[in-house]
Amino acid sequence: MIEDQEHLEEEPEEELAPALDMGVILISCADCNRPLLNMLKVRDSDDIYKMKVMCVNKKCTPDGERGESWVHTLKGQYFHSTIKQRDRVLSMVEEDGVMIVRLGKKR
Ligand SMILES: [Zn+2]
Repeated sequence: MIEDQEHLEEEPEEELAPALDMGVILISCADCNRPLLNMLKVRDSDDIYKMKVMCVNKKCTPDGERGESWVHTLKGQYFHSTIKQRDRVLSMVEEDGVMIVRLGKKR
């Protein structure tokens, strides 16, 4: 039988170093390139999830349809923050394993 290695041998030793490897992922619309959401990595983990963001640009495509970002695969734990000051997140709903983020505008 193989024992789980659950003791703390992987405790990082460089806790005091600046968190240089914290990534920021910019998610923008695949149709009009409007920046939609920043995903700020707050820690490494084995969490993997997929997400995409629906575009808020009313003139996203010539025929008036709203576009969306590509599907991004993220590993770790993230905060999200909107890029434009008036944007806000209306909903995050998981559909078929992909987190769908919808944005709206503050009044
Ligand atoms: Zn767009």
